[in-house]
Amino acid sequence: MSQAEAETRHEDLECEVLVIGGGIAGLSLAGELASRLGASQGASGNEAARVVLVEAEPTLGYHTSSRSARQLIPSYGPPAIQDLTLRTLALIRAAEARLPEPILAPRRFLLIGDEETVRDRASAHMHPVMQAEALGLAPELRPEAFTAAGLDTTSVACNTDALLEYHRARLAAAGGRVLTGRRVESARRTGEGDAQRWEVRSAGTRFQARVVVNAAGAWADTIAGIFGAEPLALTPYRRTAAVVDVERPLEAGAPMVADAADRFYYRPEGGQVLISPAEREPSVAEDARHRDTEVQALVDLINSVTTMGITGVSRAWTGLRTEAPDGLPVVGWDPTVPGFFWLAGQGGYGFQTSSAIAELAAGILCGESVGNGPAEALSPARSRV
Ligand SMILES: Cc1cc2nc3c(=O)[nH]c(=O)nc-3n(C[C@H](O)[C@H](O)[C@H](O)COP(=O)(O)OP(=O)(O)OC[C@H]3O[C@@H](n4cnc5c(N)ncnc54)[C@H](O)[C@@H]3O)c2cc1C
Repeated sequence: MSQAEAETRHEDLECEVLVIGGGIAGLSLAGELASRLGASQGASGNEAARVVLVEAEPTLGYHTSSRSARQLIPSYGPPAIQDLTLRTLALIRAAEARLPEPILAPRRFLLIGDEETVRDRASAHMHPVMQAEALGLAPELRPEAFTAAGLDTTSVACNTDALLEYHRARLAAAGGRVLTGRRVESARRTGEGDAQRWEVRSAGTRFQARVVVNAAGAWADTIAGIFGAEPLALTPYRRTAAVVDVERPLEAGAPMVADAADRFYYRPEGGQVLISPAEREPSVAEDARHRDTEVQALVDLINSVTTMGITGVSRAWTGLRTEAPDGLPVVGWDPTVPGFFWLAGQGGYGFQTSSAIAELAAGILCGESVGNGPAEALSPARSRV
């Protein structure tokens, strides 16, 4: 087949659920859903995938899901997020029992600042610690840099690559399919009544699906437009991180340290240190890039509040944390467009809420009774009232 023929020939793919987006949101739901639905008989009599995931980039997890700080923090975020985080930790721990390597490892979370800012950010999963105790946990901190601290001992480090791979393998094992390098470009509704389907097109592939899940991260509102749904005013916010070399490495068991006023956070990364300015700058949906001047300003700030002595930047990156106006994820059926399901707005909590959100979303998609609490709090309908 010539190159020109290959480009004009369309592969036709039929499935029950088409998940758009191969980040942690799309992969965790696709894995959960496929393991509930399994495979079905296709028109040809062969096994057909009931769940198909389509990703625009050539690799999975290319955007925000490969750019996180890889920490799950039960004390972080509003109460609804904290509940989802605890449930996610329980689900990942249950999965770990069947895996050769663990995904989670203990890494405490130490919040520092002045009395007021630390008190404002404190939660049930965090207890106050005296400055002397905080300095024992993080001896690189200069005592004049903070007056109050809170410690979350339930916080853990997450091997996010292993978690993404766990979900991908689960999807594959249940007969699901992943197609990368296919950007969804157009969609239309076909058929009548129960036979209604989405016909979705990307270069080279035409999908037929009963249901489409919008897990497109920073592009979720763009995807809504393609499917004729109202956008939800989702805003991508920039967040930068860097891995730096230091004169005095942190101990392997050192906590993640975060400024309660959101000026910085850092944590050990092997013999190096991962640092972030914890910024929240609105952005368009794009392949975000870091700015050297901002990384240098952060290096100067962290050198002024610690004695670790940053000597150089090994690598830096920026990702987009996409949020709904009220800061909560959006999970559920679109209120007006049938067969269109939202799984977006995970903000800075995408990994720590992932398994719980996938469980909730799969329950709603399968028509199970999921209770009113989180389903209502996260429903896309709440954003329009
Ligand atoms: C610096 C930083 C630190 C963070 N730290 C943490 C942390 O410690 N803990 C935590 O829980 N969270 C953290 N987060 C947040 C977390 O990374 C995100 O919430 C999560 O990765 C979002 O996942 P997602 O699947 O929604 O989005 P993405 O990973 O961006 O995936 C969306 C995918 O949709 C695809 N897509 C878009 N349009 C189309 C289309 N038309 N067709 C096909 N595919 C399409 C994109 O290519 C993309 O791959 C951090 C984020 C940043 C930036």
